[in-house]
Amino acid sequence: MFKSTNILRSSVSLLRQPLSCKDVLKLQSQWIPTASLSATANSEQFKSDVLIIGGGIMGLSTAFWIKHSSPSTSVTVIEKDPKYTTCSTTRAVGGIRSHFSLPENIKLSLHSFDFLTKINDYLNVDPDDLIDIALVRKGYLYLATESGVDTLVNNHKIQKSCGASVELLDPQQLSVRWPWLNTNGIAAGSYGFDKEGWFDPHRLLMAFRAKALALGVKYVHGIVTDFSCSCETPSCKVNGAIVDHIKQNSQAIYSAESIVIAGGSECGALSNKLVSQNAKSILCPVNPRKRYVYSFKCETLNGQNFPMLIDPSGVYCRGDGDNYITGLSPEESEEPQTTDFEVDYDFFDQRIWPQLAERVKPFESIKVLSAWAGYYDFNELDENAIMGQDPVWSNLYWLTGFSGHGIQMGPAAGKCISELILNGKYSTVDCTRFRFNRAIEGEKLLEVNII
Ligand SMILES: Cc1cc2nc3c(=O)[nH]c(=O)nc-3n(C[C@H](O)[C@H](O)[C@H](O)COP(=O)(O)OP(=O)(O)OC[C@H]3O[C@@H](n4cnc5c(N)ncnc54)[C@H](O)[C@@H]3O)c2cc1C
Repeated sequence: MFKSTNILRSSVSLLRQPLSCKDVLKLQSQWIPTASLSATANSEQFKSDVLIIGGGIMGLSTAFWIKHSSPSTSVTVIEKDPKYTTCSTTRAVGGIRSHFSLPENIKLSLHSFDFLTKINDYLNVDPDDLIDIALVRKGYLYLATESGVDTLVNNHKIQKSCGASVELLDPQQLSVRWPWLNTNGIAAGSYGFDKEGWFDPHRLLMAFRAKALALGVKYVHGIVTDFSCSCETPSCKVNGAIVDHIKQNSQAIYSAESIVIAGGSECGALSNKLVSQNAKSILCPVNPRKRYVYSFKCETLNGQNFPMLIDPSGVYCRGDGDNYITGLSPEESEEPQTTDFEVDYDFFDQRIWPQLAERVKPFESIKVLSAWAGYYDFNELDENAIMGQDPVWSNLYWLTGFSGHGIQMGPAAGKCISELILNGKYSTVDCTRFRFNRAIEGEKLLEVNII
């Protein structure tokens, strides 16, 4: 959803040393046969131009854009859970905002919003059954205390320069616009009056999948268990992925000219398999972080005029039909285990409710109706995307790590990575700074938020 820069976990231990020229030359002169290949010598083999690992929003958007731009390119998507019970995409809150400080994020969000408003032009497969992703065009309202005003104003300038529809409001203007808002301690607010809001992530994902299939994308129910790789002058390549077909109880090798890893919070684990093939390979610093979302009812405040409210404490809240949903990213010391999807209701009582009740008086007497947990695709380095070519494997691309803001970036990010794969460069938004290499260099690309 949003981030707090002080919850970054040190990534140093996760990252490997930069490759020296000598290392690269040594690598280039090596031929590394893989154990996996011989172990699967009798496996079935499938070939496509592009293989995408992970059929969440990133994988399916990429698949769609490749076929949209280049119909003759064959694309295969491997997804281990076609029901999407635990992936990040279907557990997201679905917010879309241009309230970022990095121009890349602002531009990607604006492109995605434009896409969402024209979704039937892009993704419709049946004119009698129009896609409805339940897009709500209500903006984000970021509130700042005195100490956050400079950041709010600086971010505002960057957002405006990128074409965002945002306005700064003083406490009096805030009270007039949202009479239920307690502005005690609030020095300013920033509201996105256009091109922000929220939508149903599951419906968006299903729309991408239906269109990708209609365009001829091959969608395989299977789990990537390993990779088949080779290193030969001048470069190292991932030849294919070893896939267990879950239903058929069989194994196959899916090879491709280009491979995209879009495995969400499991990208760190997938990169580990590449490291075990070649010690020079780099660990992807994207791992799961558990986040809770609570739904509640308020008898005395109708959510009609309620934006996506971002309190200076980090608590967010928005309307959800007749109810509301809310959440908060925990402090580093509070990070829950990622072994299950259990919800911690004490976290709501102790950390969220006091802030809600303080900011919106009618929320003093609210009742939690239900809650769920999901995993962020959390980039431990800087909570931003990892996007682009792998520094070791020449035909491997990554699209992951958007952390709390990936669902909104999906439509645009898939387009950008498809441009890189098909044309060798970005055209829609230059995402070069999201390159995988920064994971080696330890160069952080931080969002400056006011919370
Ligand atoms: C509680 C919560 C709230 C959020 N709210 C928002 C929000 O308001 N706005 C926003 O923009 N973003 C939000 N996000 C973030 C957003 O959901 C993610 O950034 C985004 O969905 C990531 O998409 P993805 O395709 O990379 O990952 P996923 O959706 O997780 O997809 C990855 C897919 O890869 C598959 N996979 C993994 N490993 C393998 C393997 N070995 N073999 C085969 N398949 C594999 C998985 O099954 C999965 O389906 C939220 C996330 C959570 C958890």
